[in-house]
Amino acid sequence: MVYLGVDLGGTGIKVGLVTEKGEILAKGSTPTLRERPYQAIIEDIANLCKRVVRDAKMDMADVGAIGVGVPGICDPNTGIIPFCTNLGWHKVPFVEEMHKHIDKPVIVDNDATVAGFAESIAGVSAGSSSSVFLTLGTGVGGAIIINGKPYSGAHGVGSELGHMIIRVDGDPCNCGNAGCFERYASATAIIRMAKEVLPAYPNSRILTRVGGDQSRINAKTVIDCAKEGDPAALAAFGQYVKGLATGIVNIIHTLDPEVIALGGGVSMAGDFLLDAVRREIPKMVMYKTMPFARIELAQLGADAGIIGAALLGKQ
Ligand SMILES: [Zn+2]
Repeated sequence: MVYLGVDLGGTGIKVGLVTEKGEILAKGSTPTLRERPYQAIIEDIANLCKRVVRDAKMDMADVGAIGVGVPGICDPNTGIIPFCTNLGWHKVPFVEEMHKHIDKPVIVDNDATVAGFAESIAGVSAGSSSSVFLTLGTGVGGAIIINGKPYSGAHGVGSELGHMIIRVDGDPCNCGNAGCFERYASATAIIRMAKEVLPAYPNSRILTRVGGDQSRINAKTVIDCAKEGDPAALAAFGQYVKGLATGIVNIIHTLDPEVIALGGGVSMAGDFLLDAVRREIPKMVMYKTMPFARIELAQLGADAGIIGAALLGKQ
């Protein structure tokens, strides 16, 4: 049996035909064109699914189920997507709409949850029964895997790890609260931290790199300059690592998972980030002599979304 995995994003839709072990047999993509009615977008998803199955020279009868990762919150029990800010969706009956085009079981879940699930089966957390996955991008997405299954809580709104509040009255967050983890651990955070320290370092390499135009600073600029030893970049990076490690320690104290995997744009910093975070965490864990979660870099990259979505269907 094979499974279809759909990675539904704000700009693109990716579909893959995936084996039970998480290997991709064929894949395809199409633009989301998100200003369209949801019915048109879902019809495109269904057509892309059919095309990918044909490209793999297989038949819909070989497909066990279709899993879909959505950038919002999902109700896996009803198949309704209550909120998807990225697509402007509100109470979209996703599964019902898919069934107008394809007669297969359809399972929906949050995109970060799906990517973390993929890592727990075919990536860096494979073989562990409990793991947490963090995507360090524009915001911070989270996934919790317990006993080999994604955990989203009693009402489907759990695992919002990016919105754990780690500082009372801290930096304002898009969610309406302040001091959320993602304000200290996202790519957006590292850019803000660099801009905050720059006035004290007028000769910083960061400024040379962007031709003096601070609006061109991205996370990679700051990390590259930190790797090269630039004092301003190191000051911002040090703050960033402290924020990231603080959230991770909260996760360790709450869940004590076997593995915490870091993915998303900032994780491209590789061992430079991993080594710094690994140095910071032991300072804050409570039981100093006890073992705690391995902190690792995610392995599956951009394909995690389709692999994890497909494997949702296998459960
Ligand atoms: Zn928030």
